[in-house]
Amino acid sequence: MTEKEIKDILVKTEVIQDGHFVLSSGSHADTYMQCAKVLQYPEHAAKLAAEIAAKWEDEEIDLVIGPALGGVVLSYAAAEVLGVRSIFSERKNGEMKIRRGFEIKDGERVLVVEDVVTTGGSVKEVLSLLEEMDIDIVGISSIVDRSGGKADFNHEFKPLLALDIKSYKANKCDLCKEGIPITRPGSKA
Ligand SMILES: [Zn+2]
Repeated sequence: MTEKEIKDILVKTEVIQDGHFVLSSGSHADTYMQCAKVLQYPEHAAKLAAEIAAKWEDEEIDLVIGPALGGVVLSYAAAEVLGVRSIFSERKNGEMKIRRGFEIKDGERVLVVEDVVTTGGSVKEVLSLLEEMDIDIVGISSIVDRSGGKADFNHEFKPLLALDIKSYKANKCDLCKEGIPITRPGSKA
């Protein structure tokens, strides 16, 4: 798929909404994203997972790991394409952990998959877990990188799509100045 085809899927499934939004931080933005929305459609999840798998076709991979919750469905779908195991990490009392008896064996080659990278915080927490193990971290993929190139993982990062989302301080918002109606995502209309 081309980047345009990927973006079209994300617009069609309302992952990417253009407009004028108040974010939970209080900032205003021209785009709102809800990546989980595309993963409610298995056929789209499978297509995106196949794109992720294709980015690493020259690498040997034994295992895909995704941080809960965003990375669970996508890492599972990517593992299915690659024909390998899929596990997830999750927060327990605020700390990222690998639980539920999931094991990574010495020498395994591990791909990290996340739905969207904003600051990259969850992925970094997974990486620091993996870096303590005697394994190889192949790299990281996500559907969207909205970090503006700021996510630095010290491992190869291959997102499907990089999105540049403009955000504004509430009192210095160009969209407010233009009088564009504002939406508060998550609140009932
Ligand atoms: Zn505004």
